[in-house]
Amino acid sequence: MEQIRQLQEANQKLKEDMDLFAMPEALPQRPDFVPEAGSMQGTSAPKSSFSADVLGMEMPYLGEGETRVGFQHFDKVENEKARMEAMRVEQAARVTGVTPRPPPKYEKTEWPLSIVFVSSEVTPWSKTGGLADVCGSLPRELVKRGHRVMVVSPYYQRGTKEDKYFEGAFDTCSNASVGCFGAAHEVGFMHQIHDGVDFVFVKHDCYERPGGIYVDAMGNAWEDNQFRYTLLSHAACEAPLKINFEGKGTYGDEVVFVANDWHAGLVPLVVASKYRQYWNTYHNARTITVIHNILHQGSEPATTFPNLGIPDDWYWCLEYQYPEHMRAHELDLGLVVNILKGAVATSDRVLTVSEGYAEEICTPLGGKGLEGILTERKHRLDGVVNGIDLDEWNPANDPHCEFPYDVSNLAGKLMNKRALQRELGFDVRDDVPLLGFIGRLDWQKGPDLIRDSIAEMMNEDVQLVMLGSGIGELEGFMQWAEATYNDKFRGWVGFNVPVAHRITAGCDILLMPSRFEPCGLNQLYAMRYGTLPIAHATGGLNDTITRHNPFALDDPEVAVAAAIASDEGPDGNREMADLGPGTGWLFDSMDTWSFMYCVSNACKLFRENPKMWRAMQIQAMSQDLSWYHAALKWEKIFEWSKIDPPHCEIKQEHHHHY
Ligand code: ADP
Repeated sequence: MEQIRQLQEANQKLKEDMDLFAMPEALPQRPDFVPEAGSMQGTSAPKSSFSADVLGMEMPYLGEGETRVGFQHFDKVENEKARMEAMRVEQAARVTGVTPRPPPKYEKTEWPLSIVFVSSEVTPWSKTGGLADVCGSLPRELVKRGHRVMVVSPYYQRGTKEDKYFEGAFDTCSNASVGCFGAAHEVGFMHQIHDGVDFVFVKHDCYERPGGIYVDAMGNAWEDNQFRYTLLSHAACEAPLKINFEGKGTYGDEVVFVANDWHAGLVPLVVASKYRQYWNTYHNARTITVIHNILHQGSEPATTFPNLGIPDDWYWCLEYQYPEHMRAHELDLGLVVNILKGAVATSDRVLTVSEGYAEEICTPLGGKGLEGILTERKHRLDGVVNGIDLDEWNPANDPHCEFPYDVSNLAGKLMNKRALQRELGFDVRDDVPLLGFIGRLDWQKGPDLIRDSIAEMMNEDVQLVMLGSGIGELEGFMQWAEATYNDKFRGWVGFNVPVAHRITAGCDILLMPSRFEPCGLNQLYAMRYGTLPIAHATGGLNDTITRHNPFALDDPEVAVAAAIASDEGPDGNREMADLGPGTGWLFDSMDTWSFMYCVSNACKLFRENPKMWRAMQIQAMSQDLSWYHAALKWEKIFEWSKIDPPHCEIKQEHHHHY
């Protein structure tokens, strides 16, 4: 009897437990039973022949069907319990004792400015790269600081799903007439407000055609790109004067223009050569040229100069002559108008997306022909590393990853690793380092270095997953490698944001062997997710990754202190930053030997010194990679530009002597 009562109780508890876990299907109702006194079996439930036959004993009260159902549920409950217990054990084992850094507190600036960003692309309306993210995120941060900010970009209609983002824009009814290409062109301005930022879209037929932003369906640059972006630059100069924002008036002529890459490069030229010179306005405006990638300069034959709508005496700013070895034939003089050069020559300040890149573009190797003029303007040249979107890339709340985690506890990261291994069809093993690569398959990103090291890398006990699309030859390599090293290599050809998130969360190491990298975002995402990067020591990678210091203490507190110190980048307290265990590995020369040296070292550390590894993860995750930090630095650049007199003043003698 006593035994029966105990079983009854256990069963009742089981039911309650199951309610606790919210089982999807309801349990079948068990008929109440009253134990019959003196009954041989002690139960009124049907006799269980199964139990009797198989187990050789009577189950006191469960019917045959119920036994099965009961056990099934029992298993689920037990499984769930076991899973939670495992998670608990995992969590307990991976408590770091570190609290995540609190989000930044926004304080209003004492010197609010009116700022106009001009860009050929802006997230989410149009995006091909990091430029769009900067123009989508940074203005919002500046608004939170109390600035008034406008972003001017084309109103694209390309027959893609991005078109619908433009639907919310309404016509400002302030048209402008732009003089270039030998005619006056009418453009419209559409307006949309997001988080207090005025997004202004320039409307003209030339932006409304199916295809890419810069290229047609075949991948060839649009033939009229010079026209499209000349129009954008001129129109952007009109926007602050013309558009009367409801209730707030125009931006007026004391703005700071931020001209991004060559597409907006005519803005500083137009402001200096026309508005200030002839139209008596923008005397207190300032212009800042931002270089996101110096590879693209907007060069066209010098004969196209009259198209640009710039007064003739400013031709010299734009003229550029290619060195002989780059000219097409004997008679080719290599004379072009180079819009980026014009922008660098005439803007008040020049900014790039990392300090390291600012240095590199002043050298023959990094300057792509503009090193001369950039060196001349070096005293007005700065670099600020981009921030990242902390909501989109947040390991504690990432809709693409199954297990949330943060720096206080890394159990979720391990669970994500197992899930990724399962997804990729790898052996699910905690002790094998899982390496990842995400990025465009382009020579810039250096996937060929991985290709050239693949045999050596696959000799190690590692797993490697690559995600990317681009050059066919490199896509082919990924397919080949997957077939050849099927137990260790996965290649994912395509552009897939959820997979990028899962790789970032699940991997132990991120490979980023870029030949050059103005800023780079993936290494920042990786560090926020506790994934340690191995990268080429160039540009933004060199600025944002702290090399592993084998002599450091593996103490979480030191790691956090080092992270805080390294927030300032090269300006910060390097001594403290260098005391930490580091956040990754950097190799100095672009060859397989240097690369593999880092990979082997990292894998060795992963296997042999989990405490140090953990400390590195803590340092990586404790850094402040937010836009807030970057925005403060941008603000300084704006202020400096306002303090200095304009770089191109009115040429007084122009009026007096001639
Ligand atoms: P770039 O702008 O030179 O391409 P960045 O590192 O600045 O390089 O930014 C690349 C961005 O594109 C990152 O957000 C990265 O996650 C994303 N990305 C690149 N390739 C892929 C891919 N195949 N699938 C998903 N996201 C990708």
